[in-house]
Amino acid sequence: MKRAIVMGGSYAGLIAARVLSDYAEDVVVIEPDVIGGDGLGRRTPQRHQLHALLSMGHTQLERWFPGITDELVKGGARLGEDQDVQFYLDGRLKAPVPGARMLGATRPFLESHLRRRVAAIEHVRFCQAQATGLVLRGDRAAGVTTAGPDSEDGETLEADFVVDAMGRNSPLEDWLAHSGWDQAPVDSMRVDLGYATAMFHRGDELGSTVIAHSSPGPASNYQPTLTEPGALAAVEGERWSVVLAGYADHRPGPDREEFLRRMRRCVAPLRTVADVSEMIGDVRTYRFVESRRRVHSRLTRFPGGLVVVGDALASVNPVYGQGLTLAALEANALGAYLRSHPDPQNPAWDYFRLAETVVDGAWQLSTAADLAQPHVTGPYPRGYRVQKWVADKLTEASVLDSAVNAQYMGVVNMELPPKALTQPGFLARAARVLLSR
Ligand SMILES: Cc1cc2nc3c(=O)[nH]c(=O)nc-3n(C[C@H](O)[C@H](O)[C@H](O)COP(=O)(O)OP(=O)(O)OC[C@H]3O[C@@H](n4cnc5c(N)ncnc54)[C@H](O)[C@@H]3O)c2cc1C
Repeated sequence: MKRAIVMGGSYAGLIAARVLSDYAEDVVVIEPDVIGGDGLGRRTPQRHQLHALLSMGHTQLERWFPGITDELVKGGARLGEDQDVQFYLDGRLKAPVPGARMLGATRPFLESHLRRRVAAIEHVRFCQAQATGLVLRGDRAAGVTTAGPDSEDGETLEADFVVDAMGRNSPLEDWLAHSGWDQAPVDSMRVDLGYATAMFHRGDELGSTVIAHSSPGPASNYQPTLTEPGALAAVEGERWSVVLAGYADHRPGPDREEFLRRMRRCVAPLRTVADVSEMIGDVRTYRFVESRRRVHSRLTRFPGGLVVVGDALASVNPVYGQGLTLAALEANALGAYLRSHPDPQNPAWDYFRLAETVVDGAWQLSTAADLAQPHVTGPYPRGYRVQKWVADKLTEASVLDSAVNAQYMGVVNMELPPKALTQPGFLARAARVLLSR
């Protein structure tokens, strides 16, 4: 291709630009926000919140940006291995997973390294502007109109291929509807989640701990009665990033004292940090109302030369930490699609099918878990009660046994598809663990 345009230069847009740089002579990333030294952009307030990178997301990051882990660690990020990564359920530390690895870094830090790597690719350039419309020629995308400091109002940038990476509130569907195209059907689930993140000075109060994550499970009927749900990560700048989460009336607020009180009702690592470490700055809150995905494969028509990635395609409940990993896996789908020498005149159905496969897995896991909350009212999949009964038992077995937990966490980390939890050998081991308890 001569030119590919990526609308949106955040996490998903950056990885998409990296993939496109293998296939286009000129890649333009259109991003209106000046993402400064603090790595924060106006349109993405979620960047303030603790972002965990699942191990599959980490693997994919290293695949597209070799050496980035070393670079991040040199810059102050922490790489947690084995016992440095701790998961608690209903207040109990889960069985260790040999070989577990997780990176501790803030989202702005991670993303600023990604941006630097993408900007260093000779034929990728950033255009500080807002995408204001899609140029359609016949049945295909042929460019983007822009407005902003780096472009004249209404300027048209021609392209052979266009990627929508404009996040959850992408205007693409409205643009398409305006031009007479059907909007992609949307699946959604209302979860009414509240998030609050605060930073703390980090000393040696938790030894080599990099990640501690705690969630309610079957023993508390997934309610914050035994412990508060929350997590901490050792991040660059000798800091802890601490997040608390809660649903409906139990959403955490911005009050510092209340944040500390709530941390003291969490598992031991969070209690320790609340007691001995000093909070830096304010508590930042975020409200996430619903998980949402657009399902393009249910359309019969879609413009050629146009794909959708990242939150614009699917934005799922953040407590499962899937968003960044999904963006990377969708970028893989884009790479696989482009490798097959597609005709950009035709709709990218093969891309959407591949991307939907990974979204399906994430969606299945997160929505099944969300349905355990009493205020979440569906939609329920067929056989939900049986599924939940089995999932509760497997979750319980994963607390007790390393081998069961390794496979369970493989699914949580998106290294294995959800169906790995239905393999007979795995189910038999989980049953043995529970019977011998
Ligand atoms: C509270 C919270 C916590 C989260 N925690 C995690 C976590 O722990 N782990 C994890 O993996 N994921 C997490 N996520 C999900 C993650 O933040 C998203 O999946 C991720 O930001 C998606 O990246 P994106 O590039 O698709 O969209 P965004 O990051 O939202 O970026 C969209 C970009 O498009 C740009 N844009 C918007 N309009 C235009 C326009 N008209 N023209 C050009 N550009 C435009 C914006 O400026 C922005 O830069 C969390 C989300 C939330 C809300």
